[in-house]
Amino acid sequence: MRAAGRIAAGARTAARLALRPGITTQEIDKVVNAYILSQHAVPTFLGYGGFPASTCVSVNNEVIHGIPGKRVIREGDIVSIDVGATYRGYVGDCAGTYPVGDCAPEALELIDITRKSFFEGIKLARAGNRLSDVSHTIQQYVEDRGCSVVRDYVGHGIGSEMHEDPQVPNYGRPGHGPLLCSGMTLAVEPMVNRGAYDVRVLSNEWTVVTLDGSLSAHYENTILITGGEAEILTMADDI
Ligand code: MG
Repeated sequence: MRAAGRIAAGARTAARLALRPGITTQEIDKVVNAYILSQHAVPTFLGYGGFPASTCVSVNNEVIHGIPGKRVIREGDIVSIDVGATYRGYVGDCAGTYPVGDCAPEALELIDITRKSFFEGIKLARAGNRLSDVSHTIQQYVEDRGCSVVRDYVGHGIGSEMHEDPQVPNYGRPGHGPLLCSGMTLAVEPMVNRGAYDVRVLSNEWTVVTLDGSLSAHYENTILITGGEAEILTMADDI
């Protein structure tokens, strides 16, 4: 899991470094695909449920599951990069949202709130706590700052499959859900909207967008539960 996590994190970094005005989302996907293959790993997303690429690239009001294509990234866009790598039968999954060039202060603030909500949440991700302690902390952090957490999509257990039990919602009352135990690996991934939490799926049957058209940001790492602080398996310089 650590090795898979390092590769996923490296792919996310490679995509971030490639981001610039003028690049297409398809070109970003090529960078990710090449990086994962160079590490002797397999792009987990490619063909998963029929998904046609190695990367989910979701721009501005797109929440998750953006399909790479001919779209050109422009100055001022915020771009979510979500990648998965399978290495020797185990999966690492991570995502981040990055500004391209000069972005509106509210866009930068949304990215910051989303990222920080993850780190606030995982303070509670330790053996002996309940899963919803993490969920509740993320929700509270986000809503205290005037944003909303997406309800229709959630984080997940992860291991030899990308999506395993349990579901890891970014909302809920504390003190509920599975008891966290050392050795569990989870993908914790707040999806945060500037406006309301409602989303819809585009006619391509993949891309999830905010219903009100507001900006959305995503931040995800695969973590390992321990008796102390969670270990982030998809750690990278730019987290
Ligand atoms: Mg995930």
